[in-house]
Amino acid sequence: MRLLGYAAYYDPKGDDEYLLEKVVASRGILLTRDLHLYRRALKHGVRAFYVEGTSFYEQFWSVAREFKLRLEVDPRCSFCPKCGGKIREAKGDEVAGIIHPSTLERYGEFWVCTSCGKVYWKGAMWRSMNKVLEKIRSGVSLSR
Ligand SMILES: [Zn+2]
Repeated sequence: MRLLGYAAYYDPKGDDEYLLEKVVASRGILLTRDLHLYRRALKHGVRAFYVEGTSFYEQFWSVAREFKLRLEVDPRCSFCPKCGGKIREAKGDEVAGIIHPSTLERYGEFWVCTSCGKVYWKGAMWRSMNKVLEKIRSGVSLSR
């Protein structure tokens, strides 16, 4: 979600009460696989969406379809998957010393999180992410 440029907050350990308060405070939408929590949210007038599917792909597809997500990874409007900070472009010499020299040599474009400092490039994760998005865009069923 963050890679696609959507501000997201993730907390697998937060209790129901806390999560609902957080959603209201941020004027966000609760995405959950917990039917009990989902019903509770609706009862309290909190915007909520029950995520369908058991695999990551199914769940992602369920959310993407519901919210008509922009299915493109654009680093200029992405948020850090790790901390949710804003990502900006970085020059090669800026990230030298942080990342492996072979990575630096292989990839010309880098992005760095302005909040936690994590460096990103179009590596394996990026490619697999785009593959998933391509499948979703072309309407291929991901249920198997
Ligand atoms: Zn970060």
